[in-house]
Amino acid sequence: MQVEVSRRKFLQGSVALSIVGGSSIGVTNLMASHEKTKSHGVAESITTKTGTGEAIEVTTLCEMCVNKCAAVARVEDGVVTKLNPNPLFPKSRNMLCARGNAGIQALYDPDRLKHPMIRIGEKGEGKFKRVSWEEAYDAILNGTDKFPGMGKILDEEKDNRSSFLFCAGEGMAEHTFKTFYSAFGSANWLNHASLCLKTVISGYGVTIGGYAAADMDNAEYVIMAGANRAEAIVTPDTMDGFKRTKGRGAKLICVDPRFTHTAAKSDKWLAIKPGTDLAFVLALTYVVLTEELYDKKYVAENFNGFEEYKNSVISNKYTPEWAEKITDIKAKEIYKIAREFMAHAPKAVYYPGRRSTFSNNDFQLRRAMAIFQGLGGGIDTKGGLVFGKKLKLGKHEGVEPMYAQAESSLGSSWINWRNDFLEGKHSYKARGMFIYKHNPMLNMPNSAKTAEMLKKMELVVSIDTMPSDTVMYADVVLPECTYLERTDPVKTFGGVEPSIAQRNKVVDPMFESKPVMEIMRGLTEKITLPLWEITKKYDEDVQETIEEDGEKETFAEFDMRIPFKHSQEEVNHHMVASVYGDEAAHHLKEHGVYYPDIDTHYKQLGANQFQYYPEKKKYYTVNGGKPKTPSKKIECNIPNLKKRNTDPMPVWRDEYNYVIPEGKFRMLTGRHAQFTQSGTSNNAVLRDLIMENYVWINRRVAEEKGIKFGDMIEVSSATGKTHLKAYPTEKIGPQTIFFVHGFGEESEALTWAYKNGGNDNAVISDVTEPVYGAASMHETNVEIRKV
Ligand code: SF4
Repeated sequence: MQVEVSRRKFLQGSVALSIVGGSSIGVTNLMASHEKTKSHGVAESITTKTGTGEAIEVTTLCEMCVNKCAAVARVEDGVVTKLNPNPLFPKSRNMLCARGNAGIQALYDPDRLKHPMIRIGEKGEGKFKRVSWEEAYDAILNGTDKFPGMGKILDEEKDNRSSFLFCAGEGMAEHTFKTFYSAFGSANWLNHASLCLKTVISGYGVTIGGYAAADMDNAEYVIMAGANRAEAIVTPDTMDGFKRTKGRGAKLICVDPRFTHTAAKSDKWLAIKPGTDLAFVLALTYVVLTEELYDKKYVAENFNGFEEYKNSVISNKYTPEWAEKITDIKAKEIYKIAREFMAHAPKAVYYPGRRSTFSNNDFQLRRAMAIFQGLGGGIDTKGGLVFGKKLKLGKHEGVEPMYAQAESSLGSSWINWRNDFLEGKHSYKARGMFIYKHNPMLNMPNSAKTAEMLKKMELVVSIDTMPSDTVMYADVVLPECTYLERTDPVKTFGGVEPSIAQRNKVVDPMFESKPVMEIMRGLTEKITLPLWEITKKYDEDVQETIEEDGEKETFAEFDMRIPFKHSQEEVNHHMVASVYGDEAAHHLKEHGVYYPDIDTHYKQLGANQFQYYPEKKKYYTVNGGKPKTPSKKIECNIPNLKKRNTDPMPVWRDEYNYVIPEGKFRMLTGRHAQFTQSGTSNNAVLRDLIMENYVWINRRVAEEKGIKFGDMIEVSSATGKTHLKAYPTEKIGPQTIFFVHGFGEESEALTWAYKNGGNDNAVISDVTEPVYGAASMHETNVEIRKV
């Protein structure tokens, strides 16, 4: 089946949405009005219709980026013709962005993986044979003449389950894949964290006890440094961030080496040298400490190590004048911002951001930001950083067997794991890997090394919807269906207005694709008993237990099939009904969203304005206004950090200085609001919005080099090179270049993405920060030349 959704129809639908959405005043209580529809709880007045056929509507959650906005899919004659926002979800508040609308193209992309395949060519060549699901499972267990099966590998490795690596990208079904990993018994799990948010989560975690959200609805003053919300990810909370700037209630200070969309929408933009934000925060802190602008009562009650940190900042003379030389931000601006921030505190936010790790000092930067935030008392309080509440869910049955032969983990840093594997530094041999919805070829610095790792890995199983560059290196390819074709594990969304939401299957899986739950059911049916024989052969603990308790009882703990025996719908129902009752579970399935008292709390207030919780019921404060660390204090000084090769308190070190050798440029990378990493690179609808990535080069530098707009440029580093077109601009400094991540795939199976634009990770060096081994994305110097 091949269904094409034309751009014209896509745009038509969007226009219809805005017109009809604007006329929907009067639906004051959606719960009361849902009987009027034949859909899943969505009022007719806010839906659209694009065809003439009989239509049904199904609630779902978007998977075009990490935000998981709630949507309602309109299905006509079995075809998804429109995706509309579901207004019931507090997190997305009746918004579905351009990417969200383009989700239909993810479903109907002609290049999708359609059936299981096994490799018949050389690794990376992309030559596969179509097989049945049974044949694919058999190849995983028993191998082919091209690659060994897991039975042989585990037998040779004497049942060391850790000889298999499991890795995954972000997504709601990642949970199901991780359930398989736990049941399999490997200790090697890697996901996107060390290529993404690792330092911000951990920096805030150890300092204030958690990664809190910024209350952008109520903050009066916001510093947004290195977080490019208006350009990198346009979610509903992004919109909150900008609707009150420019004299409308909140002042926004943007600190960024580039003049971004965020800079354009801010009250003030400060161009900073890349990697020097820590010096900026330390200087802000210096002003607040020396001028005693901090909240003394809050600090006395909620800080550990305050005096040591104060002494450190002052004795190191982190003055604004000192910071000006490092950051390029004028000292007078630093004084002004520090004073203004504290004048508005606690309704002032140093925005934590949700970006990847940029520089080697990123962990310390996050610690300094969290401490600075605490100095104004803006933690766990309205207008500041808020932890919010998370609604409980019931448990799903799983198994986590202990395999005596499974060796311990080889670490949680993707880059370090890969490099140690290639250099033979692992204490045991990893020989196989399972990859779920993850494209390390594009997403991890130094693509050449990733290719080498995938070539050396003896058995690579890839579960994905699209034939990405990484899939090309697989031995067995298992086609997952897209998010519109599956029900995913129910999820609880914490925050000031917490809720539970569910992704329901909108249409049946196309071709021979399946949801992960079913893929794992089939795979575990195939491998569980043969692998049990291997465990019995090598595991002396198991042999003893069998003697004592019998084989049947012993095996029950090792039966990988158990977590997958029920359907996802049954599991979800149980997880909700066991806590909130059957009616809540039915409500969730029908409406897509549930939280206690939704029927009385939820109200439509205006054309596109909704109440989810009455103001008094919102969870601005859940911890008495205190941090959530075990000590309930903000931790300024953590001596144990020395063991992780880092300073106990945030300090500046000379090696953090921005120094670019003559003739070189610091390379910056980032995201784009119409593109989600390489995950949407082949989406033809989104390609209309951003055709390819261009490299930003300072206009005067470009002139000196004779580079004009659209000229083809080679960007090269010690790691590798890539090619893309030039965009000369005044919006970037002379020693810095920038291009958007996610382009430049090499897989010929991707019609639109193949060799389209440049791959940043072909050039970015595999530098990791010292604390968690997170990839430092902005530490690479490059050369550029016109080709
Ligand atoms: S922000 Fe856009 S792409 Fe992301 S989940 Fe929401 S609608 Fe989908």
